[in-house]
Amino acid sequence: MFGVGTILVNITPVFTPADENYMRLAIARAREGIAGGQTPFGACIVTADGVVAACDHNVVWKTTDITAHGEVNTIRVACRALGTIDLSGCVIYSTTEPCPMCFSAIHWARIRRIVFGASISDAQAAGFNELTIANDIMKSAGHSPVLIEGGCLSAECRELFREWQGAGQARRY
Ligand SMILES: [Zn+2]
Repeated sequence: MFGVGTILVNITPVFTPADENYMRLAIARAREGIAGGQTPFGACIVTADGVVAACDHNVVWKTTDITAHGEVNTIRVACRALGTIDLSGCVIYSTTEPCPMCFSAIHWARIRRIVFGASISDAQAAGFNELTIANDIMKSAGHSPVLIEGGCLSAECRELFREWQGAGQARRY
């Protein structure tokens, strides 16, 4: 029974085939990262016109940069490609829920919508030193207008952690 003032939470979003295709690009990048000794995180930034501005993976080990998470790295690449620091209207697809640092970068870039697959707790379970603050909490505490939709191809995204652990060079941080 839904009366006035009922708040519905944890509605599973319905993702479009386009959403899933963009997420598959991010998953493919994450796999490239795994093959190159990086951690299993990929991201894809798409403009309002549906153009892929950047699709990249985490390069923390490659660049000896602890801030070079998949989302931050992809934001940097997208901004350089588009010649702007303002990604208003863009959507970021991330194989894992952005950590608080990446969520903040997404906010600073004014990205409109976050679509993620696996959750922060999945990354924590894989051994990463995560700050376990969900994006929904960051959004509400920080009054961010960004839209958040989690669970896109979540099984495939979680599988990336297993592939990474099986690749034999799974260094955590
Ligand atoms: Zn991050």
